[in-house]
Amino acid sequence: MALVNEHMLKLPQNYLFSDIAKKVNSFKLVHPNQRIISLGIGDVTQPLPPVCIEAMHKAVEEMAHVETFRGYGPERGYDFLREAIIKNDYAPRGVRLDASEVFVSDGAKSDCGNIGDIIRHDNSIGVTDPIYPVYIDSNVMCGRAGTLEDGRWSNVTYIACNEQNGFIPNPPDTRVDIIYLCYPNNPTGMVLTKEQLKKWVNYALRNDTLLLYDAAYEAYIQDPEIPHSIYEIKGAKKCAIEFRSYSKTAGFTGVRCGYTVVPKELTAGTLLGERIQLNGLWNRRQSTKFNGTSYITQRAAEAIYTPDGQQQVRTTIGYYMQNARMMKQTLEQAGVTVYGGDNAPYIWMKTPDGMDSWRAFDQILYETGVVTTPGVGFGPSGNGYLRLTAFGQREDCEAGIERIANWLK
Ligand code: PLP
Repeated sequence: MALVNEHMLKLPQNYLFSDIAKKVNSFKLVHPNQRIISLGIGDVTQPLPPVCIEAMHKAVEEMAHVETFRGYGPERGYDFLREAIIKNDYAPRGVRLDASEVFVSDGAKSDCGNIGDIIRHDNSIGVTDPIYPVYIDSNVMCGRAGTLEDGRWSNVTYIACNEQNGFIPNPPDTRVDIIYLCYPNNPTGMVLTKEQLKKWVNYALRNDTLLLYDAAYEAYIQDPEIPHSIYEIKGAKKCAIEFRSYSKTAGFTGVRCGYTVVPKELTAGTLLGERIQLNGLWNRRQSTKFNGTSYITQRAAEAIYTPDGQQQVRTTIGYYMQNARMMKQTLEQAGVTVYGGDNAPYIWMKTPDGMDSWRAFDQILYETGVVTTPGVGFGPSGNGYLRLTAFGQREDCEAGIERIANWLK
């Protein structure tokens, strides 16, 4: 008899976005004529930058001829892309990387989930709370999260982000083996300054903690003082892996490309006290279980780094960030407390009168026809908040936020 991985059965049956979809479908049945506006989507809506389309057409043409056809690519990704990454994303920020430290992938979600393959099953885990659910669920699947007790996993340290700390968490008082950080943050839209990030790096160096730093939204940072990479902090190469994605940077959610940086200086221990380079382990893991991102996609990603590409990406991000500014301003004028939205496409809105997240979600849906995302779906500390996204079309964002502002009044 084949036996299942029983850790998978521990995952809660309710999945945030399918619960939302069910509620929206029930609402549609009762209100077939109401125009529903979603401010809950985490997907982009604007098309790919024209440079990417051109690069993809050109790459497809290359695939059509025996002289230029490409099969399997190099295991870490093509040199042209890894060199463009180092030259554009890191060198200008004073971060020196070798091409062998960059691994091109099909996106940050898979890498954030798969990284667990190279670390022992019994490491303790820390997450800021609320957080992108993949970090916890991927650990549940291999048994590392422990058991679920009152909505919390026994082997996970939840580092609360709340009104008391302004959604800027400090490192925990206790030692944790592996900590996931996500900045700019999904769902709160908050960022860390260099000083704040330094506290985490110093904590990690002191405690021999591995930091898994998800910078999927770094392109949305507007404030020049905010770090884009954890490696802008001294010592981070000894304690951190960084995940990047072109999904939100350049509309690649359906194209699929990202990359992960595993510095050569980064090591973790064995039970016998030997130190092992994680770069080699990740390379081994990827070359065994992943066969690369398509040549066509990597050419599209490379095009983002051309001057035209940079301009086009900035224009689209500017469009979303203009949505975010408008949404945040409208909510503040309506007298509600909001976080984020300045350096991220997410706005974290406090519900009125301490209402719990799902109740606020239901009321807004039924009274205004606007879909939001309940903050509690991202972790226990998210209760009492809603996440709104700025990825919609301008008219939808304007109409949706206006309806919420009227509801608040
Ligand atoms: N990391 C965070 C924090 C995200 O919010 C998302 C997508 O919503 C991802 C990673 C996924 O990125 P990708 O599309 O590159 O898999």
